[in-house]
Amino acid sequence: MSDGLRLMAVHAHPDDESSKGAAATAKYVADGVDVLVVSCTGGERGDVLNPSMQHDPKIERDLVAVRRQEMARAVEILGVRHTWLGFVDSGLPEGDPLPPLPEGCFALEPLEVATEALVRVIRSFRPHVITTYDELGGYPHPDHIMTHVVSVAAFQAAGDPAQFPHAGAPWQPQKVYYTGWSPDRLRGLHEAMLAEGLESPYAEWVQHLDKRPVRAIHTHVECADYFPVRDDALRAHATQVDPDGNWFKVPLELQRRVHPTEDYELAQSLVPVTLPENDLFAGLPEAGALDEVCRTAAARDSDGELVPVYRSPVPAQEDVVAAAEGSEDESAPEEVTQVEGHADGDDDADRSEVAS
Ligand SMILES: [Zn+2]
Repeated sequence: MSDGLRLMAVHAHPDDESSKGAAATAKYVADGVDVLVVSCTGGERGDVLNPSMQHDPKIERDLVAVRRQEMARAVEILGVRHTWLGFVDSGLPEGDPLPPLPEGCFALEPLEVATEALVRVIRSFRPHVITTYDELGGYPHPDHIMTHVVSVAAFQAAGDPAQFPHAGAPWQPQKVYYTGWSPDRLRGLHEAMLAEGLESPYAEWVQHLDKRPVRAIHTHVECADYFPVRDDALRAHATQVDPDGNWFKVPLELQRRVHPTEDYELAQSLVPVTLPENDLFAGLPEAGALDEVCRTAAARDSDGELVPVYRSPVPAQEDVVAAAEGSEDESAPEEVTQVEGHADGDDDADRSEVAS
C-alpha cells in the first residue's frame, strides 16, 4: 500500500530514534515504507546510565564501539535503514556558569558544513517526508537544537540546484515534522496510572507542563501495536537505559488504551493539508507522481526561501527562552530530562532513562 514512500528521521544521538517516534517508524516499516534513520552524532559523550553496567572496564574502554553495537541492534529491531552523519557528540554542559562546548563538537560545526552533509543524504535517499526536532530540540541539549537547525536548513537547500551543487541532484521533500511531546498524552497516562492505583512516573512533570510553550501538535499516528517494538529497541541501548527506569513503568495495555498514538507537529508542508491528520504522508500525491513533484523546483520567495502551503505557528521567542531557562532552574524538577533522557551523568537513576 505504501510501496515507494520514503521517510527520513533525523536524530541527534543513537537511542533518540528509539525514544522519539520509534513506534511510528516501526509501523511505517511494516506498511512497506522505506525508513532511514540519520544519527547526526555517535553519542560519544553519553554516560552509562544502566546501573548494572556502570564501572564496567570493558564498556568504559570503548563506549563508542559499544554504542555502535547497540545502535545496530536497535536498527534491526525497528527494521529501519540507518546512517551516521559523522559528527561528534557535544555533551550536555553542566555547571554555573556553563562550561564552553568541546572543540570540534557537532553544535560548533559551521552550519553550511553540517547542512551539506545532510543535504547529501537527502539527495541520495530521496525522502518524501522528514522528521526532526522543534526549535528547542524537544529539550535544550545543544545537539538536539543543532539537529533542528541543520534539518530545517537542509529541507530548505536540498531542492535548490544553486545550493551544494556537488552534493547530488536536487530533491525537495514535501513535508518536515517535529516529533512531539503531547501534554495530553502525559496528562492522560498520569491520570490513568493514578486511577489504577499505580504510582505515576509523571507526577512532578505534569505539574510543570503549563510552563512549556504550547506546540501545534495535530498529527497523531496510530501505532500502539508497535509500542513493544519501541521498548525492545530502547532496551537495545543497554548502556543508556535503566531497564527499571520510569520509561518502562506504564503498562503497555494502559498506554494502548489511553494514548495509542505517537504525535507530531507539522512544521512545514509544500502540499495542502487538513489538520488534524493521522498520517505523515497525508495530502501527498501517489508514489509515482510524488517522485516527480520532489524532483521539480518548489516555489521560492525573492529571498530564495521556500513558500510552504502550511507552516506551524512558531511559539513566541520569549516562551522558548523561558522554557529553556526553566529547564535549568534548580527549583523546577528535571521535567524534560526525566522523560526525554540525557540525564547528565550523576547516578540518580530516577532522572536517567535514556541518555547520550
Ligand atoms: Zn539525544
